[in-house]
Amino acid sequence: MTPEDLKLLVRTIPDFPKPGILFRDVTTLMGHGEGFAAAVALMADKVAASGAEAVAGIEARGFIFGAAIAARLGLAFIPVRKPGKLPVPVLAIDYALEYGTDTLEVDPGAVGEGRRVVLIDDLLATGGTALAALELLRRAGGTVSHALFLVDLPDLGGAERLQGAGIAVEALLDYP
Ligand code: IMP
Repeated sequence: MTPEDLKLLVRTIPDFPKPGILFRDVTTLMGHGEGFAAAVALMADKVAASGAEAVAGIEARGFIFGAAIAARLGLAFIPVRKPGKLPVPVLAIDYALEYGTDTLEVDPGAVGEGRRVVLIDDLLATGGTALAALELLRRAGGTVSHALFLVDLPDLGGAERLQGAGIAVEALLDYP
């Protein structure tokens, strides 16, 4: 399946979670076995080409793609978690949302000094979530030079923000 085929498997829901937002729902792609396998295979090829030694996924949908990619390549998986979930002292970062703030946490021991880590999430919008995860992984000692997404919404400027932080950005599908 090509990225164009995969695009047809993503459901678009108007006015979710708020009026005026077009939500790109990737659970319908995950619910299509052949499509999910093709998305993971295409993303894994990009991770392999990046030379990464570990894959970091952002909770929750970044876990689904990131873990599948890591297992396919025999790489370590590093969970970047929502607050209060990890049973060890964590590194944490707060970041701004449109309304309020959110927090991400990582086990510093999971990252490893100088390890080459690729960052994965399902979707890149403004880039705020991925930038926070990038900062956290760097503080934990990781060398992060690539971020990979299933979907990019380029009009929201996330890729430019991440590139400004010094990493290469790729996505399989985009919705200009
Ligand atoms: P950002 O921080 O603005 O780049 O938003 C990206 C984060 O919000 C990711 O973790 C996504 O899972 C989630 N997100 C934002 N918009 C959508 C969407 O349209 N569909 C699915 N997830 C979204």
